[in-house]
Amino acid sequence: MSTGEELLRSKGLRVTRPRLAVLDVLAAGGHLEVDEITRRVRERLDSVSTQAVYDVLGALSRAGLSRRIEPAGSPARYEARVGDNHHHVVCRGCGEIADIDCTVGSAPCLDPHTAHGFEVDEAEVTFWGLCPTCQARRSADE
Ligand SMILES: [Zn+2]
Ligand SMILES: [Zn+2]
Ligand SMILES: [Zn+2]
Repeated sequence: MSTGEELLRSKGLRVTRPRLAVLDVLAAGGHLEVDEITRRVRERLDSVSTQAVYDVLGALSRAGLSRRIEPAGSPARYEARVGDNHHHVVCRGCGEIADIDCTVGSAPCLDPHTAHGFEVDEAEVTFWGLCPTCQARRSADE
């Protein structure tokens, strides 16, 4: 388990307190919206603007230290789980997101019949459904 400082240095990024704080927040797990990340970073650092958090997330994502996902109809979310080929299942009811391990194991998972000459490196797969909470709510409503 490497520290945030080691992670940043390994990618040639300058070590700053906001970057360390964002890495720390993401390391707790989950798929977090920028607002939530900002709220948690402010528990660690006194004054951090939302724009600063956006900038940090952009730098971390470009460096491959965080992954940005943006399911249809949902704001962008960020997670620390990078470097594997996992997918996501999104609840149609409440927007809850969970990780789904790739059943194939390596990108791009799905081989198109024809790629029109493209060199394909990723298939973006999102599973949609109802989470357990929303299923229970639906049963209660019936
Ligand atoms: Zn739900
Ligand atoms: Zn994920
Ligand atoms: Zn896959």
